[in-house]
Amino acid sequence: MDYNSKKKKFISLKGNSGLHSPNIHSIIKEIPEIKVDVDACYLSNPYATELFLDYLKRDIINTGRINDMIGYYPSPNTEIAKPISKTLNIPSSNILVCNGAVEGIQAILNMLTGKLVIPIPTFSSYYEYCHNMLEPIYYNLAKERDYVLDLEEYAKFIHDKNINNVLIINPNNPTGSYINSSDIITFIEEHKHLDSIILDESFIHFASEDGNSNMQFNSIQGRINDFDNVFIVKSMAKDFGIAGLRCGYVLMRADHVRTCLSEGFLWNVNGIAEYFFELYGDKKFLLEYENHRKKYIADTLSFYTMLKELAGIKILPSNANFFLVEILNGSTSEDLTLKLLIEHNIYVRDCNDKIGLQGEYVRIASRTERENKMIYEALENSL
Ligand SMILES: *Cc1c(COP(=O)(O)O)cnc(C)c1O
Repeated sequence: MDYNSKKKKFISLKGNSGLHSPNIHSIIKEIPEIKVDVDACYLSNPYATELFLDYLKRDIINTGRINDMIGYYPSPNTEIAKPISKTLNIPSSNILVCNGAVEGIQAILNMLTGKLVIPIPTFSSYYEYCHNMLEPIYYNLAKERDYVLDLEEYAKFIHDKNINNVLIINPNNPTGSYINSSDIITFIEEHKHLDSIILDESFIHFASEDGNSNMQFNSIQGRINDFDNVFIVKSMAKDFGIAGLRCGYVLMRADHVRTCLSEGFLWNVNGIAEYFFELYGDKKFLLEYENHRKKYIADTLSFYTMLKELAGIKILPSNANFFLVEILNGSTSEDLTLKLLIEHNIYVRDCNDKIGLQGEYVRIASRTERENKMIYEALENSL
């Protein structure tokens, strides 16, 4: 099959994927002529995936515990919340365990009415799941400031437009931009009158406030009970490399958790996801995860240094596990995405469907050291 036929097939597959990109399983299935050697479209720590698989094989598959896991119901939500409660040091009554964070996002938005301000570009679920009673109000992040959210200007906008629900994604996706936790806390304290502040910390494990010299992250999840109107969304898909398990949670006031539980969240999480959350409460697993997290951040930093060398593109500084790349050599994001995929078997995220971006952008996830080198070489060849 020639380049143009592969291109046509891919574009039609993408057309069927809504606001998300087709995953590699559907590419391989629908267009067997296209090979994918590196998936740098989806965002996950590949070292953490290996760690989880080692545990799963040893504890669950080799011991036969898998039979019970498949043959019987998993525990109810409130039970699965317990290891999370232990690790975050907060009551389990503040935790709603979710079948992927997007389920939690939907649950939160269903409880809100009025206006929700959404800084764009951002993760699309927040505007996809607004409903009749909740109006999305877009706040354009400034290109000349690399799409970094300025909380003071944001506060002014919120006040002027009479907004009652606010979204902050920290670090943001697809930009990777990050706001220090102390600034977030100041913002929250100055906005206690709002109905809600949704803080999405799905990428927080990749962020640090010290230029990554000790790679510590500063989450405010442990302080959920200090803030009545705050909802914290956390996906486990990217940092733990387990997108396929669908694991996430929301931290919020206990009465909100009870409302959700009474509306059908009792058995929403499957047995293997339950096992993952057991590990999330296990000190030994978390210590090993720390090594994989730091190794991955170190690789991501080296990847950034490499990418910055390339001419014809601008790499935005990122505190997450991916980079937003502006294409400056005249090529479109679609052309570059297709070239990387069809000629180099490297799959990146074409951002041409992301509202709020001005220019031609692709998002490239950091992978293993070896894969990052392959991405770099393919880019060097394609630009
Ligand atoms: C990927 C992502 C999510 C959703 O994660 P799942 O757990 O896979 O549903 C939520 N928020 C942001 C900002 C994301 O990028």
